[in-house]
Amino acid sequence: MKEVILCKYGEIILKGANKGSFETILMKELRRRAKAIGKFTVRLAQSTVYIEPESDDPFESDIDAMYEQAKKVFGFVGVTKAAVAEKDMDDIRRVAGEYLPEKLSGVKTFRCEAKRSDKKFPLKSPEIAAEIGGVILSKMPHLRAKMNGADITVRIEIRDHAAYIHAGQDSGAGGIPYGCGGKGLLLLSGGIDSPVAGFMMAKRGLKIDALYFESIPYTSERAREKVFTLAKKLTEYTGHIRVHVISLTKIQEAIRDNCEEDYFTLILRRFMMQLASMTAEHIGAPVLITGESLGQVASQTTAAICSTEAAADRPVFRPCIGLDKEEIIRISRMIDTYDTSIEPYEDCCTVFTPRHPRTQPQLEKVIAAEEGLDRDALIAEAFETKFTVTVRQFEDLEF
Ligand code: ATP
Ligand code: MG
Repeated sequence: MKEVILCKYGEIILKGANKGSFETILMKELRRRAKAIGKFTVRLAQSTVYIEPESDDPFESDIDAMYEQAKKVFGFVGVTKAAVAEKDMDDIRRVAGEYLPEKLSGVKTFRCEAKRSDKKFPLKSPEIAAEIGGVILSKMPHLRAKMNGADITVRIEIRDHAAYIHAGQDSGAGGIPYGCGGKGLLLLSGGIDSPVAGFMMAKRGLKIDALYFESIPYTSERAREKVFTLAKKLTEYTGHIRVHVISLTKIQEAIRDNCEEDYFTLILRRFMMQLASMTAEHIGAPVLITGESLGQVASQTTAAICSTEAAADRPVFRPCIGLDKEEIIRISRMIDTYDTSIEPYEDCCTVFTPRHPRTQPQLEKVIAAEEGLDRDALIAEAFETKFTVTVRQFEDLEF
């Protein structure tokens, strides 16, 4: 019996003229992953991508590992493993009888649905469903068929070249194919929020580069490693990410020595925005992304965000802005960044933090508080420290 993976499109189906280019990206992405996992054929038909193992040996074609990969490709709403049968009712019954008992172990109720995209098939959908329901009940008499609220839905799809039988479709990653939405520079700290922000925008098709600000010796090498680890987790969805690193040490010392304490964080964040804008210009990213969430900390009040935003020269996407911490944590657990994020390494934002940070700053006052600094020289010097590391999902593959 042959088992394959079926990946079904989401919203992209609706995007008429772009459909072709979206499909090309999806196929390329699945082939990249397939190449790393083993021997698979990836092909497209009837708005579904089929991933077929080329070998029966799981060491050569590990279908479970490939299935996990398929679930991380943005653009698919559903992913399922399916047994392949000939388009012949006897063969469908035979394959269903062999394939379904293991899939249905542990459930009490099921529902059977059939779909014919090949209308020449002699039986109608309800008849196919009834037949296979009968097969299930004869093999597993303890099960009960249930129309609404069944534990599992068994589906039989009669398609162009074959019939497919599956039980229990998983959600795909959703969203839009990665890279279809332009490019953004993610300000990636070691915290919980920014990796989630990166994930959310990548899901909407934005290609991501990351920028990490450090402040050695006030922040450690371990803090930097942690950020690379977070970037690596995001590559599970994006393939690879370039991480740019800029040192803020000189800037932070200058702020400490020359500015009013209450404004330290706000001034620092304005430097971050300006350096991020320069980096974004350099790499051709028209937008920035941060993990800010309204009201979460003093520097994320509406007034503080306005003062920070004024230092950026391009739009700042803040996908977490309306999320509660609990909601952000739920996503970070789902994308497996949470445990890394909570490792206790310091961030440059927590170096020289003011005892009484301004929460309702006026932009003119923040700018006035920056007066003792040679902004241009500090910015130029910090930008000189920039270096870039590429983090890859599969280290031995080029892409
Ligand atoms: P996070 O969990 O993302 O660190 P946070 O709650 O700690 O967020 P802040 O430290 O105020 O919030 O940072 C707000 C946003 O600014 C972060 O989500 C991130 O996008 C950016 N940021 C903060 N520190 C850094 C840094 N060291 N390097 C790059 N970006 C940073
Ligand atoms: Mg942070």
